Amino acid sequence: MYDKNNVFAKIISGEIPVKKIYEDNILIAILDINPAAPTHILVIPKKSYIDFEDFVNNANLSDVSHYFKKVAEIAKENKVPNYRIISNIGREAGQSVFHFHTHILSGMSNLELINK
Ligand code: AMP
Repeated sequence: MYDKNNVFAKIISGEIPVKKIYEDNILIAILDINPAAPTHILVIPKKSYIDFEDFVNNANLSDVSHYFKKVAEIAKENKVPNYRIISNIGREAGQSVFHFHTHILSGMSNLELINK
């Protein structure tokens, strides 16, 4: 079940201040507080979805399409020529915040990223 007190819900509501790099009515993009690469951006939908599966199965198609197009656009606008996108699904896969988000990571070698 979605926990409405998770940190991203508080960021979306403005309760927790963050370095926001993009916002529209569907999503926000912020800098990760604990970057795992020289560029580490999180793209977070504003509506409440627990993880990637919840989002693709339950969000409307136009929101899903808008979201993933924006991930690409935000990466491009932040001058990330080569990058990796990651979404951890479940605690054992490394998910620590149970509000769907995608990591955009860039500026590190593949090996360094794998070892993170
Ligand atoms: P995950 O572990 O895949 O769920 O990703 C959650 C990410 O959120 C981690 O990379 C954290 O560093 C990041 N994070 C947690 N709290 C904050 C915050 N207040 N501002 C920015 N990023 C955060």
